[in-house]
Amino acid sequence: MTKKKSVLTGAFGAPVGNDLNSKTAGPRGPVLMEDVHLLEKLSHFDRERIPERVVHAKGAGAYGVFEVTADVTKYTRAKFLSKVGKKTDVFARFSTVGGEKGSADAERDPRGFALKFYTEEGNYDMTGNNTPVFFIRDPLKFPDFIHTQKRNPATNCKDPDMFWDFLSLTPESIHQVTVLFSDRGIPATYRHMNGYSSHTYKWYNDKGEYFWVQYHFKTDQGIRNLTRQEAAAMCAKDPDHATRDLFEAIARGDHPSWTLEMQIMTPEQARDYRYDIFDITKVWPHADVPAIKVGKLTLNRNPVNYFAEVEQAAFNPSNFVPGIAASPDKMLQGRLFSYHDTHLHRLGPNYHLIPVNQAKHASEASYQRDGAMRTDDGGGSGPNYWPNSMGGPGPDAGFNEPPMVLEGDGGRHEFAHPNDDFVQPGNLFREVMTAQDREHLIGNIVAHLGGAQQRLQLRQTALFFKADPEYGRGVAQGLGLDLGKVRKLAAMGQDDRVRATAKE
Ligand code: NDP
Repeated sequence: MTKKKSVLTGAFGAPVGNDLNSKTAGPRGPVLMEDVHLLEKLSHFDRERIPERVVHAKGAGAYGVFEVTADVTKYTRAKFLSKVGKKTDVFARFSTVGGEKGSADAERDPRGFALKFYTEEGNYDMTGNNTPVFFIRDPLKFPDFIHTQKRNPATNCKDPDMFWDFLSLTPESIHQVTVLFSDRGIPATYRHMNGYSSHTYKWYNDKGEYFWVQYHFKTDQGIRNLTRQEAAAMCAKDPDHATRDLFEAIARGDHPSWTLEMQIMTPEQARDYRYDIFDITKVWPHADVPAIKVGKLTLNRNPVNYFAEVEQAAFNPSNFVPGIAASPDKMLQGRLFSYHDTHLHRLGPNYHLIPVNQAKHASEASYQRDGAMRTDDGGGSGPNYWPNSMGGPGPDAGFNEPPMVLEGDGGRHEFAHPNDDFVQPGNLFREVMTAQDREHLIGNIVAHLGGAQQRLQLRQTALFFKADPEYGRGVAQGLGLDLGKVRKLAAMGQDDRVRATAKE
């Protein structure tokens, strides 16, 4: 006996008799308006796409678990971090940044490393990158910066002039540019890269003491990268290679994992620290702040439906839980607004009800009501205002984060120590990179910067020279630039350098 197939239905459950032939006036006549099945099918298809993310559009995601491996209760009261051995469900999404949804995974670009922890105190999101620093440190520059990584408004092509014009006018980008053009700028797969919070966050304990922290998720698979030649071949052969790799590894039971290490500073240490710990273009050198192992993240389950679970996944750095809070890092402050705002645009006011985004181990008890696509009972018959004396949920002051003293003149302030900007990229070049790393770095830069106007090449190469003369010399040589000119530009202040390389 053959098994009876389930019957195809329309969106509202009514059975469909024929899904191959539209209803027409006779075999050769036009389609009838009354073919409601056809109309429903076409109109839903017409609305299948939602706006792609303006950044991080191409990505892959998976579920997993985070396990605590060290006691951190003296630093944070977060319940999901409260006990060695405690496990919390997680959803992770990795991505490139600048490319569109159909772009290749092997592009040179930072990689997003976003985690959602489904804790018993609500969802906690950590929206990191595979780089410990960033190009800019003020959110006012973010839309401009991203425009330069996208397409020229006239040609609709990627444009090395836009790219290098902006970066060479933004010297604080030099550290991240150095990381990006090192071999780490193209991880071999999403499994073979680290994830960093990049930002400084605040942890606070149940005594009301707080600490500044940075997260480092170190890959247990080891760092593996593609050279630019390997990456070019991969873009041509399999633009989805990293997406495929993550899915296939998890499907065959080869579950990738990362060890979480934390750098932790007291507010007293931070006050006199040699770098501004709220400047995202800087790291905290390990010699100053050794990292401590705190936990393990393992990804072990693939999504069943990409659109439902990955395309609609909405991470939000403002999703905190008690024990974790923001720092004054200006870029972070901008992101606290922008992620939620983007999700409202892409997914609507009730995006928190989409299963992948919903709190799984806590329940919502807010007075937010209604809005498009409210798919639960919307708070039912309970009161929809606060304060109320109708038995509705109320705030509990015990969950307030410890206060922090803030003072200063309201104004548009620059970062205080711009000359710091060249120290850490110089250290990376001189002390961390091998001779082969340096050779690849310079080759990668020359291959890209060579497409920009010569005045931009000169201005940018002067910044490399300021980080380390050998670095600048290598790039100048590769581009065939006059080293004397580069050296002169490097000795100038930024304003004079910009004037000297202005468009005539
Ligand atoms: P360390 O020698 O203690 O740390 C250097 C770190 O650099 C390593 O831990 C590794 O990070 C990372 N690294 C190794 N090879 C490369 C490479 N080819 N490209 C990019 N990063 C690499 O020195 P410091 O802590 O004093 O840092 C020196 C410089 O290293 C910094 O100025 C910064 O540019 C870079 N760096 C520092 C990090 C930090 O948090 N202190 C993190 C990453 C880079 P990992 O172990 O995370 O893989």
